Amino acid sequence: MTQISNYDLVILGGGSGGYACALRAAELGSRVVLIEKDKVGGTCLHRGCIPTKALLHAAEVADLARDAGDFGVVASFDRIDMPAVNVYKDKVVDRLFKGLQGLLASRKVEVVHGEGRLVTPTQVAVGDDLYEGSHVVLATGSEARSLPGLEIDGVKVITSDQALTLDHVPASAVILGGGVIGAEFASVWRSFGAEVTIVEMLPRLLPPEDEASSKLLERAFRRRGINSHLGVRFADVKDTPAGVLVTLENGKTIEAELMLVAVGRGPVSAGLGYEQVGVKMDRGFVQVDELWRTNIPTISAVGDLTPGPQLAHVGFAEGIGVAERLAGLNPAPIDYDGVPRVTYCDPEVASVGITSAQAAERGIEFEEVNYNLGGNGKSVILQTQGSAKVIAVAGGGPVLGVHLVGARVGELIAEGQLIYNWEAFPADVAKLIHPHPTQSEAIGEAHLALAGKPLHFHS
Ligand SMILES: Cc1cc2nc3c(=O)[nH]c(=O)nc-3n(C[C@H](O)[C@H](O)[C@H](O)COP(=O)(O)OP(=O)(O)OC[C@H]3O[C@@H](n4cnc5c(N)ncnc54)[C@H](O)[C@@H]3O)c2cc1C
Repeated sequence: MTQISNYDLVILGGGSGGYACALRAAELGSRVVLIEKDKVGGTCLHRGCIPTKALLHAAEVADLARDAGDFGVVASFDRIDMPAVNVYKDKVVDRLFKGLQGLLASRKVEVVHGEGRLVTPTQVAVGDDLYEGSHVVLATGSEARSLPGLEIDGVKVITSDQALTLDHVPASAVILGGGVIGAEFASVWRSFGAEVTIVEMLPRLLPPEDEASSKLLERAFRRRGINSHLGVRFADVKDTPAGVLVTLENGKTIEAELMLVAVGRGPVSAGLGYEQVGVKMDRGFVQVDELWRTNIPTISAVGDLTPGPQLAHVGFAEGIGVAERLAGLNPAPIDYDGVPRVTYCDPEVASVGITSAQAAERGIEFEEVNYNLGGNGKSVILQTQGSAKVIAVAGGGPVLGVHLVGARVGELIAEGQLIYNWEAFPADVAKLIHPHPTQSEAIGEAHLALAGKPLHFHS
């Protein structure tokens, strides 16, 4: 075995968490090797955030073409050319991939292509080569999970990985799981013309979101012709000549061309040497403290491999946090409630902070305002429906949560993030002048109402 040493940092996994750590550490002067078995950029760039959002944008274009007449534009929607959609999606991914490769090279991060395995607290083996550093960061991410006994055949029963590479629009699809990934594919396929049915065992779509947001999304999906079976478990799937026959626990059956399994993602850690080296694990997740330290002093772990929100921007922040800690910069732990969350379906759902249910569970006395986008000029122009809900500590604040539903509200949640993370009071936010006509005014209106000076607001 060839030993290659003298690294400050050996990073295993080049996804959002691993590459962000590599970039920041290199910027801070560390000698970094980033080991990636597939392509740098990981799930987010190649099988997650970016390709799904490209599909969602194509879906929006399809809906605009279909509904052009509502705006007095004479156009017609003919059909989806899926190979051409894939060309567009792949071009987007490829451009960002090349950009990332360039960035890593310019920061002098050494990228090693190969499958790595932790062999000691300071060494990772790749084939016959042994990479040794003062510190190792584990960032091997996550992969789609299935249910016990449910086999993914990759053709009729698929995960998001295969859903992203379909060469045609399925005529019909059952989506198992009404979380973020399920809702996004339901939205895309419906806009592309498919019959879509979501099956979710919990009583609502996007279960971790505020109940008001779930209800609005359910109504919007119903209007769009997306069927949902909520509060019911999947029982069985059978192959049929036309596709699949899905049976639910309540005896209902649904026929479809395929079934997408979107029931969550589990850590990629089996067989990678973590347990043998003594890293503390829980059901495959690497256990870390608030600064992403494992129980072994020379090993940290970030991203989907650790418990917590499985989001690319969380991976970025954790990777940066580790790089800064190792450089002695004393980073602060992340307040995970303060991380914005977006589901990019139509309508979008975005939030930051806590829900009304969480505020009640925590025994906080709170008040809330739900501003209907029907009163917001830009939303009416866009013909979108939804709301801006703000939750604050009773008696004046600070703000505990901002929950948005509507077209493009994913862009708006950045303001909610500032409000929440700076512990702003509704009266302070109410003083801010929002540009007119924008959807951001809805955030202003909700705070005006909470501050006792409602403007365009029906109570
Ligand atoms: C369909 C879908 C849509 C998503 N949309 C969004 C979104 O819109 N916004 C958002 O914030 N998040 C989204 N996510 C989640 C996001 O992709 C993940 O949270 C993020 O990629 C996690 O980053 P990570 O670095 O922890 O892991 P990953 O991105 O999974 O990276 C891990 C890397 O490690 C590599 N690796 C694994 N084992 C080894 C090994 N033994 N040797 C070498 N390399 C190895 C893998 O090849 C991979 O590149 C989405 C996910 C999916 C599946």
